[in-house]
Amino acid sequence: MPIQRLAEIAYYQTGGTCSRLYLPKSTSEIQDAVREIHRLSQPFFVLGGGTNSLVCDDNWSGAVIALTHMGGLRALDKNGRIFCEAGVENSKFARFAVDHGLTGAGWMNRLPGQMGGTIRMNARCYGGEISQIVKKITCVDLLGNIIVHDDPSKVFRGYKDTSFMQTGEIIASVEIQLEPGDTAATQDLMKFCEDDRILKGQFTHPSCGCVFKNDYTVGVPSGLLLESSGVKSLSRGGAVVNPRHANFVFNKDKLASSRDILELSLMMREAVYAKFGVWLEYEMEILGNMPDDLAKSIREVRPLGVETPELVALRKKFSAKSR
Ligand SMILES: Cc1cc2nc3c(=O)[nH]c(=O)nc-3n(C[C@H](O)[C@H](O)[C@H](O)COP(=O)(O)OP(=O)(O)OC[C@H]3O[C@@H](n4cnc5c(N)ncnc54)[C@H](O)[C@@H]3O)c2cc1C
Repeated sequence: MPIQRLAEIAYYQTGGTCSRLYLPKSTSEIQDAVREIHRLSQPFFVLGGGTNSLVCDDNWSGAVIALTHMGGLRALDKNGRIFCEAGVENSKFARFAVDHGLTGAGWMNRLPGQMGGTIRMNARCYGGEISQIVKKITCVDLLGNIIVHDDPSKVFRGYKDTSFMQTGEIIASVEIQLEPGDTAATQDLMKFCEDDRILKGQFTHPSCGCVFKNDYTVGVPSGLLLESSGVKSLSRGGAVVNPRHANFVFNKDKLASSRDILELSLMMREAVYAKFGVWLEYEMEILGNMPDDLAKSIREVRPLGVETPELVALRKKFSAKSR
């Protein structure tokens, strides 16, 4: 495919061009793409829905494999086994499941993104996590070989952590096991998920969901640390913090560049460190050419500092409220 502005296909609606864009329609087309990229010795990255990613502004001299056309979805039996290709949207999957009288995927309704990206990120929300329902994953490795994982415990390594983050394998399709059950309760859950996200203003402007992971050893969610550090008043160019969720950075009115978003995220991380001594880890995936002058700061890791009195007080307040 000819050169394309990635801002047109990335959920955040920022990003420069790439030199080659592959839009495979089958596992074998993914293999062909990977083999060609390998033969050309080009770097590449994969784009699913782009809902957890920021594509950098600079033009990318490598290739991009976008999985939007990998849309196969079918029931494999009457006992809740479903075959799903990597490009199927989460909401579409949740709707398909409930329409087939199955429970276990209601939490995926209105979770932005595609099945492949959701598996790679081990996405979770509203009491569900993708690792709980996946049984078999078919991937393409960096040389174009097919790899089948039929022991999910070997790829899902816990909170927001999978082996795909190291291997770079491309998820092509998956088999998911759901249960026949009370679809009325699942419909209610789906409605709740949708209403709650709308209430929290999550779809007001493009974002990547939470910019930073939670660190469960800290005892306070990252969103609360950010809010209590006053980041809601920060902005950079067209990048602003969601007034209803301090861990979300909006591309307000689509006026932000990726640089604006990165610079604002750095300011947010510094604000939390200054007040609470906690160094947040990025959840947002940064794809393409990171600007040289920001790369060092973005990759910086600082150890947990001495607990500030502010952190001790906030933890106490949070744990009292959650009881
Ligand atoms: C409004 C909003 C709310 C959100 N709420 C939540 C939430 O509640 N919980 C949560 O966990 N997340 C949340 N997210 C983040 C996001 O929705 C999920 O992480 C989603 O599962 C990502 O899917 P994606 O296809 O968009 O991934 P992408 O952003 O396209 O990709 C994420 C990473 O996976 C890689 N990748 C993509 N597809 C594949 C593939 N097929 N094979 C291998 N690697 C691949 C990409 O290269 C990238 O490194 C939210 C995002 C938004 C915008």
